[in-house]
Amino acid sequence: MNKKNQLGVALAGLGYYSENQLAPALLQTTHCYLAGIVTGTPSKIPAWKKQYNIPEQNIYTYDTFDAIKDNDAIDIVYIVLPNAMHAEYTIRAFAAGKHVICEKPMALSVSECDAMIAAAQQANKHLSIGYRLHYDPYNLEMVRLAKEKVYGTIKNIDTAFAIEAQEGEWRLNKAVAGGGPLMDVGIYCLQAVCYITGMEPIAITAKTFPVSDTEKFVGIEETIEWQMEMPGEITATCRTSYREEVGYVKVNGTDGWFQLEPAFNYAGLHMQTSNGYTMELPPLSQQALQMDGIAAAIKNNEASKVPGIMGRRDMQIITAIYEAAATGKKVIVNYGV
Ligand code: NAD
Repeated sequence: MNKKNQLGVALAGLGYYSENQLAPALLQTTHCYLAGIVTGTPSKIPAWKKQYNIPEQNIYTYDTFDAIKDNDAIDIVYIVLPNAMHAEYTIRAFAAGKHVICEKPMALSVSECDAMIAAAQQANKHLSIGYRLHYDPYNLEMVRLAKEKVYGTIKNIDTAFAIEAQEGEWRLNKAVAGGGPLMDVGIYCLQAVCYITGMEPIAITAKTFPVSDTEKFVGIEETIEWQMEMPGEITATCRTSYREEVGYVKVNGTDGWFQLEPAFNYAGLHMQTSNGYTMELPPLSQQALQMDGIAAAIKNNEASKVPGIMGRRDMQIITAIYEAAATGKKVIVNYGV
């Protein structure tokens, strides 16, 4: 730690999310700042170096990545690479003695999650997943409304998140993405159901739909719907797709309803409720709040709000959703080891 008591973050992977969201957010953070970058594309380096004032010795390639261990300016490595690379680079960052934030989905399988968690324990460092909405005031207000039973006891939740995937993206490559929209954006729906209820699903039924383009969607779903049975007879109906643009979460309680639409975007979230209550805040950066929250937890030696075990739990739920869709049967989620 060297810059005004801020932790140094190195972004590994300088694609869309790093360039447009995380790096600009790191100019607004108090507890951390952009100290370094890891990239396989040398042509990106000059612009990043100049814009963020990154010293030469804090710039790494995937080949030199492990030398981060000798760099005291870097405290946290933020893995912003395609999903299939999350486990390898998280484990290598722990071997280098750094804390890790890993983007969602945590990995491609529960066993990869286990290896990542074991590496964190061995290094005695923090592992957090990039679940930004745990730091977003609108989603946190949904949690409060549920917890305080402002609209009564929750009966059911309806949620969907879908985006249009573009031809040629790694997101359409099963080996790199690990699955289709469920791994990418559907994960926000199951996350929302879990954080709003404070519970985890017991059983799942699911259904995929025939793909519209058999060359574009090979080995991955294009659209999937699933139902989650929660404790207390709460049911959640969820949908994700690479063919639509939608994102909402609506909660029905015994005394009314509350919803966010859009619910999962970076900005412009909008709350509506059955009694006209709403909230409107000045523009904010979810990513700045998220990285500051994680950095503050590391500095104070507190547990992460978005730990590796949460990412692992979500991988168990995703595994159950895929199994339910493949078999057409109700699947009890396996939270065991
Ligand atoms: P992207 O394709 O824009 O960027 C990926 C980066 O990885 C690129 O810089 C690319 O050059 C690099 N890369 C290195 N090896 C690669 C390989 N073998 N194949 C492809 N790219 C390779 O992707 P992105 O949208 O920035 O997503 C990166 C990660 O961040 C994903 O895990 C994604 O799920 C996550 N993400 C999270 C959010 C969020 O809101 N939390 C938003 C977007 C993306």
